[in-house]
Amino acid sequence: GGPTRSTRFTLAGARAERRSTGAVWQEPGPPDRHAGGRIRLAPGPGRWQGSAVADRLGGEMVEVLLAEADIRRQVEAIGRRVTADYAGRPLCLVGVLKGSFVFLADLVRAIDLPLTVDFIGISSYAGTKSTGVVKITSDLVRPIEGLDVLLVEDIVDTGLTVRYLLDNLSTRRPASLKVCAMLVKPSRARVEGPVDYRGFAIPARFVVGYGLDHDGRFRNLPFVGALRRER
Ligand code: 5GP
Repeated sequence: GGPTRSTRFTLAGARAERRSTGAVWQEPGPPDRHAGGRIRLAPGPGRWQGSAVADRLGGEMVEVLLAEADIRRQVEAIGRRVTADYAGRPLCLVGVLKGSFVFLADLVRAIDLPLTVDFIGISSYAGTKSTGVVKITSDLVRPIEGLDVLLVEDIVDTGLTVRYLLDNLSTRRPASLKVCAMLVKPSRARVEGPVDYRGFAIPARFVVGYGLDHDGRFRNLPFVGALRRER
């Protein structure tokens, strides 16, 4: 049997409810235990609801760290700064795949300038530990020589990935090269963090949502949350 005490939400309902920071959102577990593809939302800062605890086999809990509305406000603020800083220059945004695609999609619409977008794909992050190993799996489509390039990252953890990408891209002689990162974990920085535009500084927890994944999942969450693995 399923949970008995929690209110059940449809996905649409949950989207409306789960905006507030501190809410706990639970992924649907195995299909046989969660017929109908429903998810549950337990309100309150970092609390499990009793029924969610009873039902957590196979599920994962996501604690909301950055609510949708806070992210939107911050993306708009970054967009205004970029718009002012690059006025009249040939801006090219380079998104780092895959995680940055959500942030980049919102960011471009917050920038009021003519611009182009390209992507660079790097080897995906395995598990929850930083490997420091970076491999370009898909390169830019067009040359960036002479362009003002803004590298758009979802998250800067140790900074090794950004460092590698900056070294690589700078050999292609862009007119300028700066970094915009939605999330930064300052306590984890191992190289001088060259982040010019930063959305949020967050604690050293593994986060998902707003483009960020865990083993490929959770990218579509409209908020940023900390993953809590079940025992
Ligand atoms: P860095 O090289 O800065 O240590 O790591 C950067 C990459 O690690 C990011 O581009 C991202 O793919 C991954 N990463 C680091 N921290 C997190 C996290 O909390 N959540 C997720 N989903 N990925 C992370």
